Amino acid sequence: MKQFAKALLLSSALCALSFWPAHADMDVPALKAAIEKSFEADYPKLEALYRDLHAHPELAFQEVKTAAKLAAEMRALGFEVTEKVGKTGLVAVYNNGDGPTIMVRTELDALPMEEKTGLDYASRDKAVAFGKESFVAHSCGHDIHMANWVGTAKTLVGLKDQWKGTLMFIAQPAEEIVAGAKAMLEDGLFTRFKKPDFAFALHAGGFPHGYLNYRIGVGSSVADGLYIKFRGRGGHGATPQATIDPIMIAARFIVDVQSVISREKDPTEFAVVSIGAIQSGTVGNIIPDEAVLQGTIRTFKPQVRTKLHAGIERVAKAAAAMSDAPAPDIRIVEGAKAVMNDPAVVATAEKALKAAFGDKFRISPPGTPSEDFSEFAHAGVPSMMFNIGVHDPERWAAANNGGTPMPANHSPLFAPVPKPTIQTGVTAMTLAVLSAFDQHARGK
Ligand SMILES: [Zn+2]
Ligand SMILES: [Zn+2]
Repeated sequence: MKQFAKALLLSSALCALSFWPAHADMDVPALKAAIEKSFEADYPKLEALYRDLHAHPELAFQEVKTAAKLAAEMRALGFEVTEKVGKTGLVAVYNNGDGPTIMVRTELDALPMEEKTGLDYASRDKAVAFGKESFVAHSCGHDIHMANWVGTAKTLVGLKDQWKGTLMFIAQPAEEIVAGAKAMLEDGLFTRFKKPDFAFALHAGGFPHGYLNYRIGVGSSVADGLYIKFRGRGGHGATPQATIDPIMIAARFIVDVQSVISREKDPTEFAVVSIGAIQSGTVGNIIPDEAVLQGTIRTFKPQVRTKLHAGIERVAKAAAAMSDAPAPDIRIVEGAKAVMNDPAVVATAEKALKAAFGDKFRISPPGTPSEDFSEFAHAGVPSMMFNIGVHDPERWAAANNGGTPMPANHSPLFAPVPKPTIQTGVTAMTLAVLSAFDQHARGK
């Protein structure tokens, strides 16, 4: 009898479960208000952190002090922090019951360039890059990303009764040289730690703050490095007939290679070839014996990429053959892969972010720069990367009405407006993570 009652209870419980009304949608306006309240309280500390990171930037794989500052912040929040993953990277894990593991990435590194913003927290720090001393500046917004990353962690910990699962916050070194994500993966990011179920990242962009850009599928370009050495025969500048002039071969190549873009590739498909460095010769009256070129090749689609690689090789060989020079050395080095935004992850976040930001959360075409966040998606983690605007909307509007253009990422004048930029980042990233936890909890 007892057994029967138990079975009856159990079956009615199961029945009740299956008739349970559908889980109500995430209450985005209420969560947004809670996030903004928590952000307002945290902001003075976040701004101090941001200013400090901005004033003391560090180059790729040298981000020791930067990583230590973030490690301290995350430990104070109760995260378990492992340092030196992928040289200078760190992994911060926060367990909060059964559920998926969600990764949020920031970058740590800055650029070898002089900041000219005139801000009172502008960087005057220097470091050695490629054997040369250089100023260092956070001109890509990675300092904004770090403040956002700490702010998001703080907010999610504060809202821990709203989600179940594990936060895996990673701070990646060397994004600017697209080497840090690989370094972390090779150092066991997904074997020493749990491979996450989803991953998110954001990037600061040159548009008004309060706005967010996102895309489904391809989010950034594939970047391949190009290295060519043209060999000639050196001699006197006054007797060119006795030489093979590698500078002329290089010049011919630089011009002709653009015909691969304009004549061989489908004009509706994206591709760029840029030659960013030429090294050859010493003085005006010596024809040198070699010329070395370095460039970058950017594409979105594999078939366009293959076509470009073949075209570049053909043009380089032809340029040398025209001067009866030996065949050039051509190296095409695979760089960053394209960021792939997973349609299902985007669809979930999209719902929450549209509810929070309305038309300010908008689809944009893929970016032509590259990004090694792509490595995590290619390692099998469904992921999403989106952009947040950094500029004052009024100045942005004036610039678009014939005023001075606003500085883009990598400009020495790049100067995000910290508070509204970080607020948008923290709100959006927190909602994206919460939406992924919520979706998972509902088993959809
Ligand atoms: Zn950059
Ligand atoms: Zn960047």
